[in-house]
Amino acid sequence: MSSFSSSFSRFVRELLAPPGEVCLTCGSKTKLVREWPGICRRCAEAIPWIMRPRCLYCGRGIGCPDCLRPDARQRSFIMNRSAVRYDEVMREWLAQYKYRGHERYASLIVQMLGQAFVRMQQEITYLQQHPGTRRGELWRPDLITYVPVSEARLAERGFNQAQVFAEGLGRLHRLPVAELLMRSMHTEKQSFKTRLERIQSMRNAFECIPENFRIYEMGGSGIDHAAPGRARILIIDDIYTTGGTINACAEAIRQYARQKVGADPEIYSLTWARS
Ligand SMILES: [Zn+2]
Ligand SMILES: [Zn+2]
Repeated sequence: MSSFSSSFSRFVRELLAPPGEVCLTCGSKTKLVREWPGICRRCAEAIPWIMRPRCLYCGRGIGCPDCLRPDARQRSFIMNRSAVRYDEVMREWLAQYKYRGHERYASLIVQMLGQAFVRMQQEITYLQQHPGTRRGELWRPDLITYVPVSEARLAERGFNQAQVFAEGLGRLHRLPVAELLMRSMHTEKQSFKTRLERIQSMRNAFECIPENFRIYEMGGSGIDHAAPGRARILIIDDIYTTGGTINACAEAIRQYARQKVGADPEIYSLTWARS
């Protein structure tokens, strides 16, 4: 079926169905699950969760040659975790939101991120018994931030999906969200570059926004609650591919914090999908 006729038949089904009883993702008229906004049992069961990462570093569900490369050992973030594998279905869900502006996907994706966040909290609490974490208390970041998009991309799309996800997660878990970063130059589309080219072009692609950083220097709701110099910052993005983007963001934050605040925060990342 062509995508026009499938979206047309979905449209017709939506017209005929009682409200709230059509699955957002497959379009079938059926009972929706309670755990995930807008989707049916069959779609919920097909979500390719990464329940147990094989790679403890980047959170991949399968064996991971990437993290064994020498350059991976110099990464500036502690770990990444992702909610799902980026399979065909997840690719379609994200595209529905990101490129077609189908807003109901945002709350679905945010809920999914929320669940992955809880798993991440449990895992880190178990793995490191962080010095700043008292016994019986779950690990928490002091601050959430997100990967920025370029001005051009923002103008074209109207929103930054990473920001929407970060703010949604912040609301779900009552964590402060701050826009710490901006793109320092327009980075071209990544799709046609080799792995090495991507990593190189990502270096220096981000810089910190001084005004927004200053809020946290002065206190308020963020970094001042952490152990001195070891604030924990969680970066949110939609997809983790090589880790180059997250690493460049982490580097920019740490460099800025070292120079301006005299602190070296711990950087973690959580992305919706791991490609
Ligand atoms: Zn469905
Ligand atoms: Zn890995």
